[in-house]
Amino acid sequence: MAERRVQVTSRLGLHARAAANLVRVASQFKSCLTLERLDGSAEADAKSILSILTLAASRGTELRVTASGEDEQEALDAVVDLFSRDFDEFQKDDGRQISRAISELRCKGLGVSDGVVLGRVLRFQEGTREVYRAEIAEADLERERRRFRAAVRLSRRQLEAIKERAEKEFGRGHAYIFDAHLLFLQDAKLTRDVEDYIVKERSNSEWAAKVVGDRLLSIYTQINDEYLRERGSDIEDVIQRLLANLTGEGPKYPNLLEDAVIVSTDLLPSTIAELNLNHVKAIATDAGGWTSHMAIIARGLGLTAVVGLRDFYHRTRTGDRIIVDARGGEVILHPASETVAQHQFTTGSLGPTSVPRQTVEAGPVKTLDGVEISLRANVELPTEFHAVHDFGACGVGLFRSEFLLSRPGLMSSEQRQYEAYKSLAEAAGDYGAVVRLFDVGGEVGIEVKDRERNPALGLRAVRFNLHNKEIMRTQVRAILRAAAAGKLSLVIPMVADVSDVRMSKRIIDEEMERLKTENVEFSAVQIGVMIEVPSAVLTSERIACEVDFFELGTNDLVQYTLAVDRGNDKVSEWFRTLHPAVLYGINRTLQAAKNANIPVIVCGEMASTPAYAVLLAGMGAVDLSMIPAMIPRVRAVLSQIKANEAREIASRCLEAGTADEVEELVRNEFKARWPQLFPPNALPQ
Ligand code: PEP
Ligand code: MG
Repeated sequence: MAERRVQVTSRLGLHARAAANLVRVASQFKSCLTLERLDGSAEADAKSILSILTLAASRGTELRVTASGEDEQEALDAVVDLFSRDFDEFQKDDGRQISRAISELRCKGLGVSDGVVLGRVLRFQEGTREVYRAEIAEADLERERRRFRAAVRLSRRQLEAIKERAEKEFGRGHAYIFDAHLLFLQDAKLTRDVEDYIVKERSNSEWAAKVVGDRLLSIYTQINDEYLRERGSDIEDVIQRLLANLTGEGPKYPNLLEDAVIVSTDLLPSTIAELNLNHVKAIATDAGGWTSHMAIIARGLGLTAVVGLRDFYHRTRTGDRIIVDARGGEVILHPASETVAQHQFTTGSLGPTSVPRQTVEAGPVKTLDGVEISLRANVELPTEFHAVHDFGACGVGLFRSEFLLSRPGLMSSEQRQYEAYKSLAEAAGDYGAVVRLFDVGGEVGIEVKDRERNPALGLRAVRFNLHNKEIMRTQVRAILRAAAAGKLSLVIPMVADVSDVRMSKRIIDEEMERLKTENVEFSAVQIGVMIEVPSAVLTSERIACEVDFFELGTNDLVQYTLAVDRGNDKVSEWFRTLHPAVLYGINRTLQAAKNANIPVIVCGEMASTPAYAVLLAGMGAVDLSMIPAMIPRVRAVLSQIKANEAREIASRCLEAGTADEVEELVRNEFKARWPQLFPPNALPQ
């Protein structure tokens, strides 16, 4: 046996990266290598990163290194040498090197709202896994261990891929953290402990991983060193990844810090709806696109947001300083003081009230050649109701009622819904409000017992309602009752054909009958449908004969016509709003409604984009519903164009063969006709 004393001299102590280097060196030798604090308070295996970190060896800590085995002297020399080189990561002038280690990291994404803010990262992973305890039969224990090892292998492959990408995109300095994650994952202390637990307790892998993970985390939270204590979040990441690969997910809500910038891989819209906006300055997510519900809600709330950042979440730590620049579609982690000085910050959450009421025109807008177009508000949350007035909307064209269910799984009572719809009707005034029946499923989270293979094509919207008739009946009753107190109508989401319409209308009729029999005050409402899937477009002539109005949901129409997931940043380049197939769908729907003499409200994000709103007007749309804050901009543009000219352009777009051709046509025509209205960055790129 050989032993030596060493002292930790590097500024950050024996932290994750240093420990990773130590493990790499120690593992080259056959001998057992241990490290012991000289005060005897902790001992660690030098080949286990998890074990080393529990030493909490900050700068100045003295340790005894012991080697025993056939190559003990070489092993000891190598380890002591590594200590003397400060683990090969910092030169003696470590101030300079440390600043490199936490140098600025810029990451491009998609700004989906306005604002530039400086805040502190609050990491938030949607849904801690719902981990259950199951007893495994003796005969199945070996299979359970194999299942766990398979999850470890899968996690390792994922981490290697992330690390490779991080190295390419951000350089080695920022990829090292994944080395540490990989080492945690392969650390015998973790894998052996989990497997031991599975066998000893006859436990399922998920439970075993959670118990062992929790034990490790509790050791970390006790470490008396802030930097090292924070490494607990790395272990948590690894455990969460393992659990994600073993099991499904459940809800989790963060404790908000002041100035919080929520950084997440993805966020459920219902989570955003629940955030305390007094504390949240911005959100930044790896996933998401312009029309994902998360982005729509963030815009509606005036919350600064950048989405589609890919692997950004893994580079952050709770508490890191961050700039979120939604205007430039960028986030900057660890911004240098010069960078901070170069930015002009807005005050954080802009809120839909940022334009005072008196500066805003109200009512419909008229084009230069006299076509009147109604501009309505899309609203998701009761906190946004006042925006209807603030931005001069002609009432509410779409109330996404499912956000009343804020927490997944929580169905709102009839009375609570009634109150919400009543105050919606009050806010909407004489123009009235359209309440959409719950559009749950798809990307809007609800707790479902059976996870669907493909939720966007699954039990979503009208299908969910027809499968859960009691929920639908409750909502219909609440709407009918509230309609007695104000002007409301009802829209059925995502119908595929007339049979969806007829089944839904039968339920609505039955509930009216019941209210009559029960002598409850209510009022009949107009019934419309969302046209947002291709089958509804193709049968729109027939559907039009059965309903009072259409709503054109262009977000889903693009998603389903082009088979492109609206929330998946990896396919965002295929999400082409101006694809000719989408334009045919819109045009056909508008024509079908015109022939049947019923109105159409266009309520997807397309209506909120001034250039697209002009095209919609060109196809004959006279009723647009959008994010309230966009109404003044769309109004300004529509009031300065001629609908006739828009018609000419739209008919040429409808003859184009590709999205590129349409976009080029729009760019050229708009630039030539209305240069003052459409600077280059306001046109499709
Ligand atoms: C749409 O699909 O365009 C729409 C308005 O509804 P949502 O975005 O809620 O799916
Ligand atoms: Mg939709």
